[in-house]
Amino acid sequence: MKDINAHSIQTLEKFISDSGRICIITHMKPDGDAIGSSAALYHFLRMCGKGSVKIILNDRHPDYLSFITDGIPREDLIVHKELPAEAETCLSDCDLIFCLDFNAFHRTDRLEGALTASKADKILIDHHLNPDREAFDLAFSETDISSASELLFHILMETRRIAHDATSLPSATATALMAGMTTDTNNFANSVFPSTFRMASSLLAAGVDRDMILSRLYNQYSENRLRLMGHMMKDLLHITEDGVAYIVLDRKTQEEYCISEGDTEGFVNMPLSIAEVRMSLLLKEDEDRIRVSIRSKKGTSANTCARKYFNGGGHENAAGGKLMIPADLESVEAASGYIEEYTHKYLTEDEKNM
Ligand code: 5GP
Ligand code: MN
Repeated sequence: MKDINAHSIQTLEKFISDSGRICIITHMKPDGDAIGSSAALYHFLRMCGKGSVKIILNDRHPDYLSFITDGIPREDLIVHKELPAEAETCLSDCDLIFCLDFNAFHRTDRLEGALTASKADKILIDHHLNPDREAFDLAFSETDISSASELLFHILMETRRIAHDATSLPSATATALMAGMTTDTNNFANSVFPSTFRMASSLLAAGVDRDMILSRLYNQYSENRLRLMGHMMKDLLHITEDGVAYIVLDRKTQEEYCISEGDTEGFVNMPLSIAEVRMSLLLKEDEDRIRVSIRSKKGTSANTCARKYFNGGGHENAAGGKLMIPADLESVEAASGYIEEYTHKYLTEDEKNM
């Protein structure tokens, strides 16, 4: 891992020891990796004796991830949507900001302004393609890795405090890292590297309760979620002649099934189980936009498709983006036509020219 070396770790340790007030931020609509890496770092910094550590979120994480943040006092987890002034003051008044699981400031949505304006030193720990390295004072960016949580694990192991002994991690850090990695790999299904198994092995040996994590992540959903999944796969799934599977989930259907944030996690992967499908898209209608999730099989780039046609990006085979209403699309009804037209163009014309 090219960004982890004696010099970068020493620099990191100096940034931490020189800083009184530290903020941790992550991308909007935080997922398991975003929350897992943030909580893990929080508990590590508190163990290092840092008195003021705040996690600043753009929006609150879904309930099924709350077991990861349970040990964090309320005043140390500030959500911009709920307390905008407090979140922005923390970012402007702190000495150091850790930026986890995102590659460019705009991925923090409403935190972007305060983040850009803040004079604090900024450290990136991320695993997405195309990181905006210039924006950070120190960057740990690796793409051949499962997750930001895994990258943070390998960084922490190199610190003098942990010294390659995972039992020296706070147990809340170990649990949060395992949970973050588990969600980003879909429980060891995608983006798994030899280093990922090494991490898992060390954490299990250090006493992490993986059964508890799996139970909290995968066995606590509502009945409605499973029924919605049935409806989506039976009635809403379309497959084009190019092998593109797509589902458009409008707000009316989300309301009908009382769907909350995080309830559709993992659904976009399911159509990839069909032999002919090379790319799968899930479009979810939100207030003023449609959020897009894209997954692809090897040989087809979800990242390029997201960057070109969906105002987004991500990883080679797992990416996301958005279509603004009305700037990109008049309404959600126009989404199917848009997907069919642009994925056809992407797979027939653009891919040949790559
Ligand atoms: P998901 O489909 O799970 O929301 O996102 C898949 C991957 O794409 C994640 O790694 C996420 O960070 C990235 N991603 C999702 N939405 C966007 C977006 O709007 N812009 C960019 N650049 N990346 C995104
Ligand atoms: Mn991630």
